[in-house]
Amino acid sequence: MLSSESSNVRTKGFGLRREILPQLAENYKSDLIEEMKVNGYRWCSGHLTFRLAKEFGFCYGVDKAIDFAYETRAKFPSRDLYITSEIIHNPLVNRRLMEMGIQFLTGPHKGVKGVEDIGESDIVLLPAFGTTVKELEYLKSKKCLLVDTTCNSVVAVWKRVEKYSEEGFTSVIHGKYDHEETRATSSRAGKFLVVWDKQEAQIVCDHIINGGDRAAFLRCFEKAVSPGFDPDSDLLKIGCANQTTMMSSESMEIANMLQKAMVKKYGTPHLAEHFRHYDTICSATQERQDAVFELLKNEKIDLVMVIGGYNSSNTAHLAEIAAKFNIPHYHVNSAESLLSKNKIEHKPVGEKTSAVTSGWLPEGKVTIAVTGGASTPNRVIEEVIRRISALAVQTEKS
Ligand code: SF4
Repeated sequence: MLSSESSNVRTKGFGLRREILPQLAENYKSDLIEEMKVNGYRWCSGHLTFRLAKEFGFCYGVDKAIDFAYETRAKFPSRDLYITSEIIHNPLVNRRLMEMGIQFLTGPHKGVKGVEDIGESDIVLLPAFGTTVKELEYLKSKKCLLVDTTCNSVVAVWKRVEKYSEEGFTSVIHGKYDHEETRATSSRAGKFLVVWDKQEAQIVCDHIINGGDRAAFLRCFEKAVSPGFDPDSDLLKIGCANQTTMMSSESMEIANMLQKAMVKKYGTPHLAEHFRHYDTICSATQERQDAVFELLKNEKIDLVMVIGGYNSSNTAHLAEIAAKFNIPHYHVNSAESLLSKNKIEHKPVGEKTSAVTSGWLPEGKVTIAVTGGASTPNRVIEEVIRRISALAVQTEKS
């Protein structure tokens, strides 16, 4: 089970929300976004009209994680405070934590100390994605205070894969095998296989139905299976789960593909003996995807701005929805990505790195759809909107 219920693991805040509210408002709130909500999610500036998706920005899990981090700092202003990795995938939020003296133990912001250097007097925050069983147990052995900010929707997936394991089912997880959340989930799954997309799911389906080249299968999923995984014996009984932030439609399609493969192999009467599926996409992810879909379907939009960290999975999926509508779209991580009226730095859908594109802002009357991932502060969304409207009135292209 979850195993974070022990004396040195805290899964609640410290009752200091009122004290931290002014700081949270200063760092993340936006008056412009509040104004847009009141005005039908719309704001006009010159010949630009901005249309905000009805669900966007911080989700309940991110709110909780950030609250816990700020409350912990407020409660222990002079203690050494660490976090195992990025608390969420947003550069501004992680920068703010560093400014508050919270030191990162791993990843691109890693400070001087690593997990092995943690001592009893230290405090360690666990991020919203959770952490692996191994790392959790190691940190517990250090007897430091652990403040666990893991989102409840992630914990729900953990419970699901633990149940599959108890029942002798292999978890097939739709996600990115090296994403923090999927690593945490798979560490609780016993036997598991992570599939990234429908193409990989098809390989799994083919093996279920026809068997085949075991070595080739293992080469394909080399980094995405539990130790000792054997596709010939470990795909007889499978349960589907997913990283909470995947594209929900794709997760459903993958589960359907696997279900059909099981029906083909064993017949409908025996399906329950071989297949389990529960949708574990979190509601916040689903709502943000639905909202941008509705906006693009119902309105004439000339340009879509999707705002959030480049490593934010749920933000990337919002950009994928925009791509499907064939409308010019840009996934930017902050207002700094808008380099000039002519040039924009953005992460193209499906690419691992960012690119710079010219001629991104159309002339004349333009309606711009705006959304932000579940880890994007409203303040960052406002800064992007204000930067676009400032650039639009510049006469010189650079
Ligand atoms: S996106 Fe969903 S799972 Fe992730 S932190 Fe937010 S609510 Fe939790």
